Amino acid sequence: GDDVIGLRAEAVGALARVDRERVTEFVGELLRPAHRIAAALHHGDRDTGLEHHAQLWSARLVTLAGPAERERQRQHRIGADLDGGAAGDAGTRGAAADDQRVAELAAQIDADYGDSDVLLVGVLKGAVMIMADLSRALAGQYPMDWMAVSSYGSGTKSSGVVRILKDLSVDISGKDVLIVEDIVDTGLTLSYLVQNLQSREPASLEIMTMFRKPEALTSDVSVKYVGFDIPNEFVVGYGLDYAGRYRNLRDVGTLAKHVYS
Ligand code: 5GP
Repeated sequence: GDDVIGLRAEAVGALARVDRERVTEFVGELLRPAHRIAAALHHGDRDTGLEHHAQLWSARLVTLAGPAERERQRQHRIGADLDGGAAGDAGTRGAAADDQRVAELAAQIDADYGDSDVLLVGVLKGAVMIMADLSRALAGQYPMDWMAVSSYGSGTKSSGVVRILKDLSVDISGKDVLIVEDIVDTGLTLSYLVQNLQSREPASLEIMTMFRKPEALTSDVSVKYVGFDIPNEFVVGYGLDYAGRYRNLRDVGTLAKHVYS
């Protein structure tokens, strides 16, 4: 982080420190004006009309629900479809955006790769959440790229025949590559992906997944880093969807019956 020229941290820090609480509190639409206002005020720029805005915004900021309350409201809206409903606590839904586990994995990855630049390859769309959390927990340099694949086949089981919807934008030959996955179920999608990427002759190719189901243990892909082994059930949240929904749920859980019926 020392290489990055700061956003005048001393000026905006109080408003825009990007920790979880602040991100929750200052939802996106508020964040940008808050930066501008803080920077203008820092420069003593009181004739821009921004001061007036600053007063308005700070009035709005304090009337925003606090982080805990806002999270409760979010949970109530999105989490209501999970088993146990909105009131179910994260513990009973299995580990989700578990900072502790992500930090452990990051430390292990940092230790394994030392100072070499490793290309993180995220598999869209599910891996967006774990990629965001993992990459920010890593201490080394980890460039990122993305692939999108779609599995041919019907129902919820993948067939292993995979179509590349979006390919990498960089050449990986001679590079260390770490695939970042949300979940490995049968492992068929991943084994295709590994085969495909191996043919491009990277220096090394490993896999990290946040969740793994028991069935994957019988497949031929070897996953080096696993967040959690979970029961053989269809789960949503933390990047995982059902018909495009629930990805932005913080927790991971199974869906309540009323969603299917
Ligand atoms: P596999 O080829 O390993 O059977 O399936 C991999 C893909 O299927 C994952 O990347 C994910 O998109 C999807 N998938 C597998 N299990 C689940 C699950 O429990 N919930 C959700 N939402 N998607 C899953």
